[in-house]
Amino acid sequence: STFTSLALDPRLMQAVGQLNYVKPTPVQAHTIPPALEGKDILARAKTGSGKTAAYLLPILQRILEAKDAADAGADNLTAGLILVPTRELADQVHKMIEGFTTFCGKQIRAANIARNISDSIQQSLLLDRPDIVVSTPSRAAIHFNTETLDLTLLRYLVVDEADLILSYGHENDMQVLAGALPKGVQTFLMSATLTDDVQQLTELFCRHPFTYRP
Ligand code: AMP
Repeated sequence: STFTSLALDPRLMQAVGQLNYVKPTPVQAHTIPPALEGKDILARAKTGSGKTAAYLLPILQRILEAKDAADAGADNLTAGLILVPTRELADQVHKMIEGFTTFCGKQIRAANIARNISDSIQQSLLLDRPDIVVSTPSRAAIHFNTETLDLTLLRYLVVDEADLILSYGHENDMQVLAGALPKGVQTFLMSATLTDDVQQLTELFCRHPFTYRP
């Protein structure tokens, strides 16, 4: 399969070309088509497999479609929340979003609140209503509880490195966030291993996910 057959937005295709991606990796080839149809995704994928682009490309594609369809001045609330276990991974994901959105102008704005920044800077990043928020579960739960993170119009949720998130003891934060999700959120759950714990998390967040288990 090729990136061309995925029929992505030209702005995303231009970025894919600039990043020298020639063809989709297996996890991308298997999960991007069902993700573009709106299916929840559960993927066994480790670092290096191309898992980040596997969820970012469909989410960016669908956000661009929604923006193109919306009336000018339509209200902007956070559409995507990406939960990661560590600050380092948050930095990598945020950089990758910037890479993929190089040709999108100001259409898509992302904020990384997992960075080593003060609470007040985290708050101002969130009050700026980014389209996508990258965070650890604990920071996302804190800002949800203080109503700085508005999840009322959330459309996409990613739990990246789900097995690590659980091993770091984030179950309570994940419960809080699961309870905060509006109906119909599309969930992407990526994990290097699909343990019983991860299966339980899947039941909390996913409905009949398309499962990729190579
Ligand atoms: P990840 O598994 O998401 O951490 O990605 C590992 C590395 O592979 C990152 O540097 C990506 O930019 C790169 N990558 C992801 N997808 C592709 C692709 N289809 N072709 C070439 N490189 C890719």
